Amino acid sequence: MNAVKVTVLAGGVGGAKFLKGLRTELRRRFPNGDGGSTAEITAVVNTGDDMWLTGLRVCPDLDSIMYALGGGNDEVRGWGRADETERVAAELTAYGIGWPWFTLGDLDLGTHIARSSFLRDGLTLTEATARLCERWNPGVRLLPMSDQPAETHVDILVDGKRRIVHFEEWWVKYRATVPAQRFIQVGVDKAKPTPQVLHAIEHADVVLVAPSNPVVSIGTILGVPGMREALRGARAPIVGVSPIISGAAVRGMADACLTAIGVETTAAAVAKHYGARSRGGILDTWLVDTSDAAVVPVLEGSGIRTLAVPLWMSDTDTSATLAGDALDAARAR
Ligand code: GDP
Ligand code: CA
Repeated sequence: MNAVKVTVLAGGVGGAKFLKGLRTELRRRFPNGDGGSTAEITAVVNTGDDMWLTGLRVCPDLDSIMYALGGGNDEVRGWGRADETERVAAELTAYGIGWPWFTLGDLDLGTHIARSSFLRDGLTLTEATARLCERWNPGVRLLPMSDQPAETHVDILVDGKRRIVHFEEWWVKYRATVPAQRFIQVGVDKAKPTPQVLHAIEHADVVLVAPSNPVVSIGTILGVPGMREALRGARAPIVGVSPIISGAAVRGMADACLTAIGVETTAAAVAKHYGARSRGGILDTWLVDTSDAAVVPVLEGSGIRTLAVPLWMSDTDTSATLAGDALDAARAR
């Protein structure tokens, strides 16, 4: 049986929405059980947001995807587990450990305890993630970008004083309102893409770049030494989806990240930042929203084939249509 292999670079919540749509679309295109072709999705996930907190390894983006695709996420809040309680968090606060502004729910803590236990038993993060996914059955193979930690820290100015804080502190505690001077990938020089990630890129039929944060999700994945080279060497077409629509980050604060690295918050600027694969970058094709159709000829001039399609992922149906457009764009190369 032939399996079409789709490999997706992804961050947390935006990545999860896109992957959910892709899973739906591929199930439509390749209904199981008919003895014909099937499809396999592999997500290469940002681990730059990971941290040790209250003695536990927390992997926000991997968990966002695992919960969302496994049906355990809180749809209303937009993150974490559904039906969550916070009794343990209150105990941790009483002991004065953890981050009071980064609440770990009781059910969510179960995941972090299990993961930390696997890691202590000597499993790699890739293996630990696979074990967690045995329970959640997300229908997508989740691969951390690297088994070596490479956490994103941010250089900020608070009350005139320079501080270097974990990305989540800037993002959650400061809501990205304090200007970031730069992002640092702590330990990235010792990190490498896992063999599983390299295999998934090398053997993919299509590589998609999800509409995730271009700096602290996709940018972090691309920052792992060897990742760009692997993508540039892939035999599959690489299609990216813009996380920016009409000059805004759609949801969230990605504009603050782009400003920090001197890239405009536009679909065209992000595409040029990723660059055309024919000119040393990673993109063959780029999808912009129909409202940004005017940039198509500009980007074509930069060597990036560009198509304008609806990019809003308001529900699984619209995400599935978008994922279908990305697959078709890859085929039409
Ligand atoms: P995080 O790790 O949870 O921050 O999530 P990601 O990095 O995967 O994705 C966050 C990004 O998704 C945001 O910065 C937005 O730019 C983008 N995004 C969110 N919703 C949509 C949408 O409906 N359409 C598109 N094209 N992008 C979106
Ligand atoms: Ca994230």
